Amino acid sequence: MAVQRGKAKSSAKGSVRMDDAKSVVREAREIELAAAMIRLGARLQVLLTETGLSRERLSRLYREIRQESPPKGMLPFSVDWHMTWLPNIHSSVFYNIYQFMAGDAGLRGPVALVEAYRGYQDLMGEEGTPEQGLVLSFTRAWMMVRFFEADMLQMFRCNSCGGQFVHHAHEPAETFVCGLCRLPPRAGKRLSATRGAKRRQA
Ligand SMILES: [Zn+2]
Repeated sequence: MAVQRGKAKSSAKGSVRMDDAKSVVREAREIELAAAMIRLGARLQVLLTETGLSRERLSRLYREIRQESPPKGMLPFSVDWHMTWLPNIHSSVFYNIYQFMAGDAGLRGPVALVEAYRGYQDLMGEEGTPEQGLVLSFTRAWMMVRFFEADMLQMFRCNSCGGQFVHHAHEPAETFVCGLCRLPPRAGKRLSATRGAKRRQA
């Protein structure tokens, strides 16, 4: 009897340990993911939505990594922002990479977002200063993916260059020409200055 009781006890303990181990692994993955998003500049609301971690733990992790408290206030919530000239180009670059990560690369959810943002950073990083960050912040990129999921935004093919650009959904796409093919006068100057700088670097 004593032996049987002992056996039953140890197997119950064993399964508890298995569950513990699984939840520790899951938690470690979520902390790793949250840390990656914090380093890319994610706001607390993004972390709360994308991980199962508590507000307290995320705030602590945020302070540990960024040496400051997470900022308060509203998230940037504007579909129209993505339609203005420079933000539209950055948003389009990001979303092209995101589509690849979430499609051919087979990544899911926040992992696709993190990898796409890293790709965008590599490609466009020199445009922003460290204080200002990139034109499209990580939180705005996250928000934009939600706009796409909510069917508020769509990719349009430019009739002139054939590139794919972020656009309001459900609008006529037949005559669409992108911001790079139809430059506003001031943007043109800025872009050619950037191109000149890139050529000099090369
Ligand atoms: Zn174009």
